[in-house]
Amino acid sequence: MITKQKGTNDIYGEAAKKRAYVNEILATLCEKYNYGYIETPVFEASELFHRGVGETTDMVQKETYDFKDRGDRDLTLRPEGTAPVVRWFIENKLYGNMTDPVKVFYNMKMYRYERPQSGRMRELTQWGFECFGSDEVISDAEVISLAYNAYRLLGLDDVVVELNTLGDTESRSNYREALVEYFKPHIKDLCEDCQERFEKNPLRILDCKVDAGNDILKHAPKTIDYLNEESKARFEKLKDLLELMDINYVVNTNLVRGLDYYNHTVFEISLNGSYALGGGGRYNGLVETLDGPSTPAVGFAMGLDRTIMAMEENGVNIPINDSIDLYILYVSDTEQETAAYLTQDLRLNGFIVETDSMKKSLKAQFKSVDRFNSKYLIVLNEEELKTNKVTIKDNKTKEEEQVSLNDIADYLDMHM
Ligand code: AMP
Repeated sequence: MITKQKGTNDIYGEAAKKRAYVNEILATLCEKYNYGYIETPVFEASELFHRGVGETTDMVQKETYDFKDRGDRDLTLRPEGTAPVVRWFIENKLYGNMTDPVKVFYNMKMYRYERPQSGRMRELTQWGFECFGSDEVISDAEVISLAYNAYRLLGLDDVVVELNTLGDTESRSNYREALVEYFKPHIKDLCEDCQERFEKNPLRILDCKVDAGNDILKHAPKTIDYLNEESKARFEKLKDLLELMDINYVVNTNLVRGLDYYNHTVFEISLNGSYALGGGGRYNGLVETLDGPSTPAVGFAMGLDRTIMAMEENGVNIPINDSIDLYILYVSDTEQETAAYLTQDLRLNGFIVETDSMKKSLKAQFKSVDRFNSKYLIVLNEEELKTNKVTIKDNKTKEEEQVSLNDIADYLDMHM
């Protein structure tokens, strides 16, 4: 038997309905913020992620699905959405003549070769929002607002925005020096990966999953103490805006996020201090890194799978339809013909309708009525059909009424 791959899931039944519900709420919200939908290809040139996400990140070093196609091209399955969206932005020269920001949202599958566990998949779905063209703090606030309110609309009222700033290039580089000084005497006590990070990108040490609880990391210098005046003022302004917008945030000075491309704002959204539901920040350098003209940008990505898990764990009622409107029962061939066109008619009129297609006995069809939780049922009857009438029955109250074939839709409309 061929089974599904580790870290992947078939999505069907109730789980599929829950996703559809969440997807619809998120899409509607993104439209309100005037973000347009985008979908990028599942595979891209490997170089996009090597340069875009960063050669020294865990994601690129350990987690990408890389392969060669039959034309010997180096390709990678998309592990995240920002680099592909930036590639799209540059390729379509959307940077020219920007009088308004370019704002897009996506809902895409991502692929990461991670050790699968609860909430950590190899095929995962992320919703993300990216905004290009504005370096104003109001754009950071808008993206944080969109992310924060997405969770609240989904019923996760207690989400918190964990906020930090890396500052501008100058602040970040001062901070980096301070980190190198600090870690130098301790480096042999950290994991092998961290020893490598120390050489290539010491900020990443703060993100290490292995050394997360280590006191050395806990007492490391904080970005916030190395900000220049401009970066400090910017951070203060962002906090003011978030307060005005009534967004629940805490400053978390340990937050640096694993990717190379962030500057200034970084944030994660979490629930009751448990794992992150999503994260994002400002990435003013990325468009240039990928050969476009310097363009400010800010974005956020949320894990759909984890969001739904959090909703379930927190008792959020996810409304899913588990009933149909009408079941049409029949026995004879003539009745079957009527069933065939009536179901089509009523479906096209907007009702969820089912009929027998397994040659079941009438008794077995009645069982299907209950299994489908049908609100109404009609037992077709040749004699009655000669007068162009059927009897429609409310499956709960058992009340019934005779109506013309042409009036079934009206009847359902009036009674549901
Ligand atoms: P990242 O792109 O790593 O910042 O992740 C953003 C969000 O995507 C995280 O906060 C998670 O909610 C979700 N996520 C990341 N990796 C996984 C994974 N392997 N499985 C499920 N969700 C994930």
